[in-house]
Amino acid sequence: MLRETGTLDRTSSLLTFTDIPVPASADDEILVKVSVCAVCHTELDEIEGRMSPSRLPVVPGHQVVGRVARRGKDARRFAEGDRVGIAWIHSSCGACEFCLSGQENLCARFRATGRDANGGYAEYVTVREDFAYPIPGTFSDVEAAPLLCAGAIGYRSLRLAGLNDGQNLGLTGFGASGHLVLKMARYRYPRSNVFVFARGAEEREFARELGAVWAGAANEEPPDLLHAIIDTTPVWAPVVAALKNLTPGGRLVVNAIRKEDLDKNALLSLEYPKHLWLEKEIKSVANVTRRDVQEFLALAAEVPIRPETQEYPLRDATKALLELKEGKIRGAKVLRIPDEFRQ
Ligand SMILES: [Zn+2]
Ligand SMILES: [Zn+2]
Repeated sequence: MLRETGTLDRTSSLLTFTDIPVPASADDEILVKVSVCAVCHTELDEIEGRMSPSRLPVVPGHQVVGRVARRGKDARRFAEGDRVGIAWIHSSCGACEFCLSGQENLCARFRATGRDANGGYAEYVTVREDFAYPIPGTFSDVEAAPLLCAGAIGYRSLRLAGLNDGQNLGLTGFGASGHLVLKMARYRYPRSNVFVFARGAEEREFARELGAVWAGAANEEPPDLLHAIIDTTPVWAPVVAALKNLTPGGRLVVNAIRKEDLDKNALLSLEYPKHLWLEKEIKSVANVTRRDVQEFLALAAEVPIRPETQEYPLRDATKALLELKEGKIRGAKVLRIPDEFRQ
């Protein structure tokens, strides 16, 4: 349970263990008994106030896998016991121009799991049945969880990158989403070369293991220009560096819900001829649609794309988030909620 926002460090107790009643499900909702919930950088943005939750206290977590424990009286899509996933999109209005044109991710009334409604760092969570997803049988619970955000938003980013097979793809940052995008790209664009920029030597080694032709530090110069780059870092210097590395007409896709202000002055080094001239583009990625999640789960099962995971018990949520903050990352971090959770 997140009660207040602030800087997360070893001594902070922003996330607390609390007994709360099992939530009541509305008529069109299901109650889900949570098995695992993957950890996302967005949780750090919520906790540290860069994107404050609309309600406090709130239970964070938006990559939830569990089983249907109860159904509202109008909820018929799943049976009790069915395995389902819940993603970042908790609901949208369903009636605005964006919702009606397949862009529910842009809805002004977009509500996010774990930010505007209680999420999956808990034993139970509720969701409208049409915002839950069946999980393909090929994945374990732990494997499935990171697919729901890191994978789905990575899928959206890769689509927005507009890459053609054979063109060079760059990835700046190589966390949970980056490593899934690399696996996706190798399947979808088998003739494309993937170049990875990451701050840690271990991340770079991991990227090479997964098939990157080149992996370097954030400010290193790649051996070739790149047609599209997907940035998943929380800072600005990689944005400027990426623009320099684009081909003419190339596109930078920024997959970050918020950027930190720490190195914002890096933007002052932006030079129009070097970084933007020749029709270079910058595009952000906002949220996900249900379709992104469904299509990505199907693709992930077909390939199959299995995330590398590190498991933590729920009580170590703060530790997992701190490691994420400090860049101690290999794949995706997943919290396991014990069957009978006791404090
Ligand atoms: Zn996320
Ligand atoms: Zn809407």
